[in-house]
Amino acid sequence: MLWPKNLNKKIKPGVKLAAYTTFKIGGAARFLFEPDSLKELQDALVFARDKRLPVLILGSGSNILVSGSGLNALVIKLSGKDFKALSISGVYLQAGSGLKLNRLLTTAKNRGLSGLEFLAGIPGTLGGALMGNAGAWGKSIGDLVEEVSVLDYNGKTKLLKKGRLEFGYRKTNLRKFIIVGAKLKLTLSKQHEISLLISQFLKQRSLSQKNNLPNAGCVFKNAAPGQPVALASGSQTTSLWPAGRLIEACGLKGKASGGAVISSRHANFILNRGKAKSKDVLSLMRLAAREVERRFKVKLEPEIKIWK
Ligand SMILES: Cc1cc2nc3c(=O)[nH]c(=O)nc-3n(C[C@H](O)[C@H](O)[C@H](O)COP(=O)(O)OP(=O)(O)OC[C@H]3O[C@@H](n4cnc5c(N)ncnc54)[C@H](O)[C@@H]3O)c2cc1C
Repeated sequence: MLWPKNLNKKIKPGVKLAAYTTFKIGGAARFLFEPDSLKELQDALVFARDKRLPVLILGSGSNILVSGSGLNALVIKLSGKDFKALSISGVYLQAGSGLKLNRLLTTAKNRGLSGLEFLAGIPGTLGGALMGNAGAWGKSIGDLVEEVSVLDYNGKTKLLKKGRLEFGYRKTNLRKFIIVGAKLKLTLSKQHEISLLISQFLKQRSLSQKNNLPNAGCVFKNAAPGQPVALASGSQTTSLWPAGRLIEACGLKGKASGGAVISSRHANFILNRGKAKSKDVLSLMRLAAREVERRFKVKLEPEIKIWK
């Protein structure tokens, strides 16, 4: 494919995506592109649209499972400078979507701004976090958002203010856009209090989730609110159950398929023991979903995005 001159050398064909994901799983993208500027991104989008080439946006790859047979797509990673700008004005933090959450957290802490601490330990970018309304400990990033700058897949820019944004449990109304950056509203606090909160959240996380093997965090969303779940005794019901508890109750901790295994620490994590393939992960996901539905009458919905 002959790309426009300014992009030709930057668009790499046949790049294996395993190295770009925390699962360390996945075949090659037909093309991978890391634009330096918004203009380059817009040019690539227009070209891909005209050639009917599907486009996929990649953040840190910490919430995706890529097919082993590769992707006939242009995968775009927003790691260039236009997507990594960061500034603070008063209690507002303006950040590019390609920045890692950890970087935002440290910058905010150094400026005595609180609000992001619950994100400590989540290995994603701002763009990925907004797209899935990432959250933990009862908080989610959508609660902090004042505005989001986006591009549509024709390369047209838009600024979406708070009133036009919807964030729910691991979802937003941003799905048809590419997120370029966002403005978050934080609150003034003391650095040592922020540090304390961060270490408390990290400690809590390591108690339940410490895994040395590659993974993509929780593979399923928790059971939808309002969905009644009969407990083993049949005597109690509750409206929201963590998917990991349901999978654990089905006795699936430690269950393996090929190179993938359901974590024996946190049953909503699937680990790559070395040579796992996407089909191994999918087979464990199907098993968990089937058993949970059979036993609890709950349909588990994937939290990770499956790219195939
Ligand atoms: C150990 C571990 C712990 C985790 N803990 C949590 C947790 O506590 N809470 C939680 O919510 N998540 C958690 N996650 C999942 C994941 O880290 C988050 O969902 C994260 O926000 C994903 O960001 P990312 O940059 O890696 O996105 P990716 O995985 O690269 O992409 C995820 C989705 O977002 C889209 N996307 C990414 N960037 C953009 C953009 N700029 N514009 C448009 N679309 C975009 C992608 O196309 C894809 O559909 C965890 C993951 C791991 C590995």
